Amino acid sequence: MKQAIFVPYDQLNRGHGAMRDADPATHEVVMIQSEHLLRSRPWHAQRLFFILASAAHFRQELQDEGFTVHHLHARTITAGFEQYRRDHPGHSIIAAAASSIPQQRLLESSGIVIVPGDFFLTGRDEFAAWAAGRSTLLMENFYRWQRTRLGILLMDDGKPVGGQWNFDADNRLPPPKKPHTWPHVIEHPLDEIDSGIWADITAADLDLAGHEPDGTWATTRAGALRQLDHFLEHAFADFGAYEDAMPSDSWAVNHSLLSPYLNIGLLHPSEVVDAALARFERGGIPISSCEGFIRQIIGWREYINGVYWIFGDEYRAMNGLAADRPLLPLFEDSTRTQMNCVATTIGDLEARAWAHHIPRLMILANLALITGVEPAAFLDWMRRMFIDAADWVMVPNVIGMGVHADGGRMMTKPYAAGGAYISRMGNYCGGCAYNPKLRTGPTACPFTTLYWDFLDRNRPAFERNHRMAQQVRGLDRLSDLPELRERAQEVLAGLSDGTI
Ligand code: SF4
Repeated sequence: MKQAIFVPYDQLNRGHGAMRDADPATHEVVMIQSEHLLRSRPWHAQRLFFILASAAHFRQELQDEGFTVHHLHARTITAGFEQYRRDHPGHSIIAAAASSIPQQRLLESSGIVIVPGDFFLTGRDEFAAWAAGRSTLLMENFYRWQRTRLGILLMDDGKPVGGQWNFDADNRLPPPKKPHTWPHVIEHPLDEIDSGIWADITAADLDLAGHEPDGTWATTRAGALRQLDHFLEHAFADFGAYEDAMPSDSWAVNHSLLSPYLNIGLLHPSEVVDAALARFERGGIPISSCEGFIRQIIGWREYINGVYWIFGDEYRAMNGLAADRPLLPLFEDSTRTQMNCVATTIGDLEARAWAHHIPRLMILANLALITGVEPAAFLDWMRRMFIDAADWVMVPNVIGMGVHADGGRMMTKPYAAGGAYISRMGNYCGGCAYNPKLRTGPTACPFTTLYWDFLDRNRPAFERNHRMAQQVRGLDRLSDLPELRERAQEVLAGLSDGTI
């Protein structure tokens, strides 16, 4: 009797998790396609395709290696377990610890034997031990602890390579004023398996958003490794410099585009870190780019996963600012706004289910924050639209960082900004119907108007926050506050009916 291993669609890795020591002679694999998952929410077509096609390729690779793979189509994952047990009486099922709290509960309640997961560099217990007894969970402190613990970018005396732990101050360049050639983006043409999966999706009459798959995203480990190699050779050197830039002539800028593969198991963070350090050692990569990239992988990514498990399942429902506006129509349709930065970002999202971290934070989440969109509605939208939207990524990033719905538990101040930041870091404003410098009048930038209005509306919540006090006091210097309040109401109404 072979030992059954349940492989969820986000643990597609032969060398990690429950598959690490598996042998076709002694183990067989169970994968379950849940009808509920497919039909319970509208999906971005590329995200759903990416998940299903990557799982299909992984199944094929396991079968090629000699594994028996039971791929079950069931109403729910639980129903799939029941079906397998009915067909294979007496077989036990093991699985690696799940990547999300709901999935972990499901495994526990289904009698699955759970083995440790190792898809992160920091175990949940390790993170909990680091966090225990700290009054604040500062990411920078965690990051330095990680660097030291893992021995990454350190000199012999334990000091950081380059003399600083963090080179963020060097990594805030706006888009270049002169013509600039951005790294080219490689394509991953659809193969026969991909085409079959897409045909199944289109035949299933699902509620899909966005454009159909076009080869932007690989669905195999080989493709993910090709993307890693491409990034390191062609984009890594300037990654740091343009990490926050939002040029209108490049959607990818110098970003690695690796998060979908990391979050679904096709790549492991340790191999990405090793490859980046090896490339840095070969020369030609500034320390600011190397350190900035390493910080994303060993710092931010691990930190977000750590706080997700510490904050628990109630965290996703927090709404500390009592925001209750329904999702704005522009989020579902990029043509429902005249705001060039928003229309471009949502258009990018429709085209390929991805935008980098600054449009996510300073355009999309900032807009949801200052318009007071209900956090759960915005979280749900982010979860279904982004190619890399794992639950553990989105819950803390949206609830804590994006819309400050957690009362400051994760971030001491909200990431609210007016049009000046977007104008500085992007080049959308020149082609916009609005003016980032104006806060009142019909051509005032909605970000600028609503930034002040957000501070005004939430003054009691922020005036005793020492990191916000200066911004809140700025309200007292606005001689046009009555007009601004009036314009803000027009803007909010216009955004809600898709005319601004
Ligand atoms: Fe965005 Fe305002 Fe600039 Fe228009 S003016 S692109 S809305 S920041």
